Order: sequence, then C-alpha cells, then structure tokens
Amino acid sequence: MSTSKVYALDTSTLITVLRNILEVMKANEKYLTKLDADIGDADHGINMVRGFQKVMELINKENPSKLDAGRALQLTGMGLLQVVGGAAGPLYGMFFLEASKKVQGKKEITVKDFADVLEAGLKAVKMVGGGTVVGDKTMVDVLEPVVAKAKEIISKRDNVDFIELLEEIVPFAKECVLNTIPLQARKGRASYLGERSKNHQDPGATSTYLIIRTFYDTLKGTTGVKISEYDQATGKLLKEEPL
Ligand SMILES: [Mg+2]
Repeated sequence: MSTSKVYALDTSTLITVLRNILEVMKANEKYLTKLDADIGDADHGINMVRGFQKVMELINKENPSKLDAGRALQLTGMGLLQVVGGAAGPLYGMFFLEASKKVQGKKEITVKDFADVLEAGLKAVKMVGGGTVVGDKTMVDVLEPVVAKAKEIISKRDNVDFIELLEEIVPFAKECVLNTIPLQARKGRASYLGERSKNHQDPGATSTYLIIRTFYDTLKGTTGVKISEYDQATGKLLKEEPL
C-alpha cells in the first residue's frame, strides 16, 4: 500500500476525479436506477451518467490544462444543472456551484479547502431541499455526518493528508448510506410512499457515497468501484469491486 502523502489536489487530479466519477456512474447506472425504481421514479442512474457526461463535455470544451479548481467545480455544477432532471439536478448542481465558490481562482484544493467545499455544498443541498435534515433519507444523511467528521479530524490532528482523511471518511460514509435503509423518507418523491419507503437504501445517499469514494480511489491510483452485489429486497450494498 502506498504511503505517499497527498496534501493538495491539483486541478488536473480534480479533473481525473470527475472523469472517474463518470466511469463509476456508468458502472453503477443499473444499480442506482434499481434503488430509485424501488422508492422513486427509476431515473437516478441514467441522470447521473448523463450529468457527468455533460460535465466532461463542458470541461473538455475549455482548455482543461488552464482551468483552476474553482472553475472545474463550477462547470460541474453547470453541467449537472443543464441536463439532470428531477431532484438530483438542482441538488447536485447547486452542491457543486456553491462548493466552487470556496476555491475560486485556486489551482489546488487543500485538505482544509476540501472540508470547506463539502460544507458549502451541504448548505446548498439543505437549502434546495427546503431545510433537509439528517434522517430524512436523502444525500444529506451522508453529507452532513461526513462534513462533521472531516472537520473534526482536521481540527484534532496536525498535517492530515487526503489519504489519511479519506481512509476514515469512506467507510464512515458507507455506514451512513446503510443507515438510510430503515428510515422513512421525509423529502422527495420517496416521501409519497410513507411507510413503504422504509427498508430501502436511498439512491441519492448512495451516489453521494460513490462520489466521495471516487476521490479516494483516484488518489490511490484506481478509478473507483462497481457495486457488484446487493440485496434484492432492500438494495443494500453488499459487495464492491474495483473497476
Ligand atoms: Mg429519480
């Protein structure tokens, strides 16, 4: 296992992360759509693929080697807002647009910036959702605990690098996804199902986890993972395999 420290994410690495997110969404398209079919409208997988395809198109249209981190995240938000329908477009779109403001004009993202970026994105998601809180069975169920944990780790330890931070954040984020299974949805289309939304893993929480974990996988030199086994009834993630 590599022990090299990563203290900053430069823009070209960030663009690699975004490209890998597209690959991860493609690999998990059917799974995400299955999760959304169970408690929503069966479009989350296709939406995420279409969204990140547009993101890469916008990034490639500009000179990627000249982009700064803020602009790359801004183009991500714009791409997602342009082509992703339903709730996911505005939620993820505003996540990245607000996040981008934290690193405007910066060539690289530090670990501290990363926590600020996630926190700004979280605030936007909560606002767009109309005051979403943890327990509503949404992507906030992953994002909010992850932001809190990242900030805690950074404040308590000196010189934390991305690998050390994400090594703790990724399994924690996965736990947060699994914690959505028993919940009754209080936001979004799933909330119309009432009690019947219980015992299903939330699709938005799942894609949020996959995005966070792709930062880690990219920094470790891999692309990301495909969820290769899941429980048919609940959608519970059982097994992941590297792409
Ligand atoms: Mg949907």
